[in-house]
Amino acid sequence: MPTNKSAWTLVVHGGARSIPRQDRARFAAGCAQAAKVGGDILAQGGSAIDAVEAAVRVLEDLPDFNAGTGSVRNAAGNVEMDAAVMDGHTLAIGGVGAIREVRHPVSVARAMLDETPILLVGEGARQFATHIGAEPADAGSIPSPGGCDTVGCIARDQAGHVAAAGSTGGLEGKMVGRVGDTPLPGCGLYADDSAGATALSGEGESIARGMLAAHILFALPGNGALAAAQMAITRLERTGGEAGAIVLDSDGGFGIAHNSAQFSVAVAADWLDAPRAGTHADDLREWYT
Ligand code: ASP
Repeated sequence: MPTNKSAWTLVVHGGARSIPRQDRARFAAGCAQAAKVGGDILAQGGSAIDAVEAAVRVLEDLPDFNAGTGSVRNAAGNVEMDAAVMDGHTLAIGGVGAIREVRHPVSVARAMLDETPILLVGEGARQFATHIGAEPADAGSIPSPGGCDTVGCIARDQAGHVAAAGSTGGLEGKMVGRVGDTPLPGCGLYADDSAGATALSGEGESIARGMLAAHILFALPGNGALAAAQMAITRLERTGGEAGAIVLDSDGGFGIAHNSAQFSVAVAADWLDAPRAGTHADDLREWYT
């Protein structure tokens, strides 16, 4: 556990959902793998933005998770994905909604950081992906078993900048064209160097109606990461549903809260010799700061 400011910290989640006992080690291992890739970037002095994108790309390629390759199908049997990246230094945000046929929606969202619009959806998002030469999805991709298993990542780099990213296939059987909380700033994610960063998973409509990421950011300065995460999950009682939040404060301390049975998570930090992972907030409690 750090005694003062952490040089760098990265937290990933693999979704707030029920995970059968026999699958939990695999979900935790996927999160640890992503945390290692993102953490290595931060350890070498890389940026929080590069780290969150890289960690989410790992999870987008693992079929267990409902993002990228493992994305669930909508009501018409098609994959439509949402993703976003936010830079806490500039407050730039890039998002895509209901995007089809790309392997790494998070990287399309990352490319949006340089554009004026903050969110492109549907055909516009797909055309932008083509324009930047985004890698197409593998035709043989397999949907994950379903549930809320969006992926997300938050990080603080050695320069003190924070970033957040998320990627999802959304809710299984969702209406065609539905966009959830994941690419909506102040709902599924937010990052601001002056306060910290957060990424959420769960029932997107409930998260958006409660503006959970915004509430976390407002709560962070006075309350710290763990209390801010817990306050968001308490607020969810107003709109119902299940969710989980990973939260980082501006010093690199982190907290996790969820009301789902499980929430797969991992943390990597300069004060840990290797990423720690689990499928419940309690699994990482001894490292909360
Ligand atoms: N929040 C996502 C959505 O509603 C679902 C999830 O977390 O898995 O699109």
